[in-house]
Amino acid sequence: MASKIFCIANQKGGVGKTTTTVNLAAGLAQIGQRVLVVDLDPQGNATMGSGIDKRKLEMTVYDVLLESATVAEARTRADKAGYDVLGANRELAGAEVELVELERREARLKAALAAADADYDFVLIDCPPSLSMLTLNGLCSAHGVIVPMQCEYFALEGLTDLVNTIKQIHANLNRELEIIGLLRVMFDPRITLQQQVSDQLKSHFGDKVFDSVIPRNVRLAEAPSYGLPGVVFDPSSKGAIAFVDFAKEMVRRIATMR
Ligand code: ADP
Ligand code: MG
Repeated sequence: MASKIFCIANQKGGVGKTTTTVNLAAGLAQIGQRVLVVDLDPQGNATMGSGIDKRKLEMTVYDVLLESATVAEARTRADKAGYDVLGANRELAGAEVELVELERREARLKAALAAADADYDFVLIDCPPSLSMLTLNGLCSAHGVIVPMQCEYFALEGLTDLVNTIKQIHANLNRELEIIGLLRVMFDPRITLQQQVSDQLKSHFGDKVFDSVIPRNVRLAEAPSYGLPGVVFDPSSKGAIAFVDFAKEMVRRIATMR
């Protein structure tokens, strides 16, 4: 069966993209899905957070983007997390400049992933906090975008740029691309403002808002320092349970996708 490819994107930093990527991946793996995480951020947080030392990688997504390696050659198994990782480190920052010179520069990742299509049920792409050439490669590869967001005062405003970018890419480069959903993360129901913004999101975006809600949970924040997704680090924590629920919701969602 072919894989479904999702970008975890939001042009803001620190909103929970990487946490969502590794924990959704681990949650999906736990319910029997074959998963590849693609780290498209030169910071390499998704790589490290999956228990893979970014400084020791022989090949990374950089080599794949420059077509000096295939996905099968460059991927690493994250044993404890239960999925494969196409890792990243600082070298990837150079790809930004090098890609500009090349043909089909925005479609490199898409072509590389096509060759690994039969190996995975889900490919999750952790995007950097910008709308750069790297993010563009992610968005051109994907069937859909998962947007993690905190329910803060400016949350809706921040979405406009991303929504417009996705519309443009849909129109010009990738007819399949759509926002799959907005994921409320770091949610604290005791904060009235967060409840209000959450209600606004639902009235504005309707069923594009995922049912699952990820609470603010310190275990999710502690897990990366152990090289594990929170779902594996402390499976009984509220954050882990929420991400496994979200994984199940994603499996239901893809059943309704074409
Ligand atoms: P991004 O990839 O968008 O920059 P991260 O996933 O790295 O964001 O999250 C930013 C910070 O917030 C990290 O320190 C992370 O551990 C923490 N964090 C993310 N989600 C949660 C959560 N649900 N509860 C508590 N801390 C969280
Ligand atoms: Mg990140």
